[in-house]
Amino acid sequence: MIRGAICGDVIGSRWEGAAAQDPGFELLGTGCCATDDSVLTAAVAEALLDGTPVAAALRRWGNRHADAGYGALFSGWLTSVSDRPYGSFGNGAPMRCSPCALLATGIRHAEALAVAQAAATHNHPDALRATAAAAGAMARGARRADLPSLMERYGIAVPELAALRASSIFDVTATGTVGAAAACVAAAESVEAAIRLAVSLGGDTDTTACVGGALAEAVFGCDIALWRRVGPHVPNDIAQIAERAVAAGERTQTAPWGRRLLDRLVVAPRLIRSARDALDA
Ligand SMILES: [Mg+2]
Repeated sequence: MIRGAICGDVIGSRWEGAAAQDPGFELLGTGCCATDDSVLTAAVAEALLDGTPVAAALRRWGNRHADAGYGALFSGWLTSVSDRPYGSFGNGAPMRCSPCALLATGIRHAEALAVAQAAATHNHPDALRATAAAAGAMARGARRADLPSLMERYGIAVPELAALRASSIFDVTATGTVGAAAACVAAAESVEAAIRLAVSLGGDTDTTACVGGALAEAVFGCDIALWRRVGPHVPNDIAQIAERAVAAGERTQTAPWGRRLLDRLVVAPRLIRSARDALDA
């Protein structure tokens, strides 16, 4: 999950804003780097692992990696004195949710953690719903064929790949990105194939591939060979947090502290409740 997310971000990074292309592109090369998707995924992982408020972790990591390519709203939040969320429905929320699925003790717990971390900045109902959908699907380890119907249960449309490629729009919405990422995983047979499909759609390639890579890892298992290939492009602090999260994730199922993770993400309980009510409806 977290390794698939970082692989997708790095592989997609040099194609951000590109037009749709053949999935057979050269996988890694000059210009590949870890961007905001990886940096803020590491931030959420650290918040969960160390029990720090997620907003503080996002700020710490965001300022340490100041040139990671943040959106305008997040950049403004990073430098503002207020920790208030700014109502975004952008894909910044689902792109950083993979540690929630990795460290959760179950599906509902993963959804709740994902919604809680999203609500620190992206407190729009669409962002919360899409983030819960991504983390819930990751925690389920659903079969790829079941992804479209599963996403539908969260109100996320999963378009046909051909339609996505034909439109090739730069979709930075949380719902659009999670739907596109799920479409790629549903049509792929490996983590690498899912990431290639996500990048081939063009547009916000690093984020679609980040969400797709995380989801693909939940479906197909970790591609260690791919993780090693991507490794030279990943800053040490991000790689170290990812490895810590993976090791902790292997223990979470039996660890009592897994249940306490939600309490650590002290953000907007009212938003979390309303998101969970929406999911239950
Ligand atoms: Mg990015």
